Amino acid sequence: MSLLPKIRTIINNVICSSNIPLGIRGTIYGSVRGFSKDNEIDITNPQTEDFPIELDKNPYEKPKIQCILCKHNINPDYKNVRLLSQFQSSYTGRIYGRHITGLCARKQKLVESEITKAQNAGLMPYMTKIIDFVNDPQLFNPDHPSRPHSY
Ligand SMILES: [Zn+2]
Repeated sequence: MSLLPKIRTIINNVICSSNIPLGIRGTIYGSVRGFSKDNEIDITNPQTEDFPIELDKNPYEKPKIQCILCKHNINPDYKNVRLLSQFQSSYTGRIYGRHITGLCARKQKLVESEITKAQNAGLMPYMTKIIDFVNDPQLFNPDHPSRPHSY
């Protein structure tokens, strides 16, 4: 007698013996086949592993676009002439528009009002840029506007 039939008879004896109650016997067979009531997915329980995971945040959400002043939380001030000079043309003294600076409307309006305030206070020139600030690293390139011209 080989070993395999021996093992089979032992398993049959264990499972089918009268010592094990009929209900448990049913669950053993049922769990093997996958038809037992115990194996059914509980729909009301969100912890069941087949359920989709609920995320706190939308993973496809686009990153918030902010202008450079909002990004670093800078409030332009008429006394901060070096910063305000960045938004002024070194050739004509003209204040660059929003299509060049890339600022949001609120900050652009604030920059323009602070520049005129500084000019009226005598801190900034009207027609040129202060020579000391001409070679400062630029925040934007006036030759390549971030948005097309409005005209
Ligand atoms: Zn902004």
